[in-house]
Amino acid sequence: MGLLEGKKALIFGVANERSIAWAIARALKNEGAECAFTYATERLKERVENLAHSVGSDIVLPCDVTKDEEIETVFSTVKDRWQTLDVLIHSVAFAKKEELKGKLLDTSREGFQIAMDVSVYSLIALTKEAAPLMQQDGSIITLTYLGSQKVVPNYNVMGVAKAGLEATVRYLAEDMGPQGVRVNAISAGPVKTLAAMGISGFGEILKRVEEKAPLRRNITQEDVSGVALFLASPLSRGVTGEIIYVDSGYNIMGL
Ligand code: NAP
Repeated sequence: MGLLEGKKALIFGVANERSIAWAIARALKNEGAECAFTYATERLKERVENLAHSVGSDIVLPCDVTKDEEIETVFSTVKDRWQTLDVLIHSVAFAKKEELKGKLLDTSREGFQIAMDVSVYSLIALTKEAAPLMQQDGSIITLTYLGSQKVVPNYNVMGVAKAGLEATVRYLAEDMGPQGVRVNAISAGPVKTLAAMGISGFGEILKRVEEKAPLRRNITQEDVSGVALFLASPLSRGVTGEIIYVDSGYNIMGL
């Protein structure tokens, strides 16, 4: 029997087969979970539907996380179909391309607000809607990056957003803990995905990790999905409010 047999997982953030959220979905499915998916824009509808069908899922819903009414529709549909929810994957972030190069100093007010809304507030909004559906042993997982703790050239406003996201994880862990729901983040090393390719100089970051990280290699989506599986499952039942690094150990290095 799989680790997640009978569990229901709602997954935000699949854009294509390279998405971290897609690797997580496959790992959860392999251990017996039933998955539902959302997609951000009509442009992605067909691709996400095809991916969802390939893992036997027929719940695929539109959700731009900046729109409260779309979030409400997703959770009311999930409630109608499943009644309850066990796992919520938040693998969503966005900043305008022009904010992901040069200096943080040049961040516009609008660019700051967009990055915070999509990448941070959305975790609060989704958790609030998920709360009434989530049972004892529920698990909420988000994705963050080292740029929240250390200065990474060009990451700029997204580093500030990820710092906010990590603080949000801790506060939500306290809010959700009494009902037995855990909230954690995985701090992934750089992986080539659509979102990552928007960061100026991303190739340099990959090269640096390969040279300097204790494991001397970059991570894969599957390295992340293994830890997501652990966090989604009862194996991690005593873990909440944590930021777990999956980065070949890069974050421990001083020089
Ligand atoms: P990805 O495949 O591009 O996934 C990002 C997802 O966020 C896409 O599905 C994207 O949809 C969605 N999104 C953006 N704006 C949205 C909105 N308003 N409403 C709903 N969804 C929206 O890239 P990824 O690398 O897997 O990113 C997943 C998460 O991992 C992000 O939080 C990212 O910061 C984090 N992360 C990534 C890395 C890395 O190196 N790849 C490292 C550490 C952490 P669209 O394509 O339509 O915008």
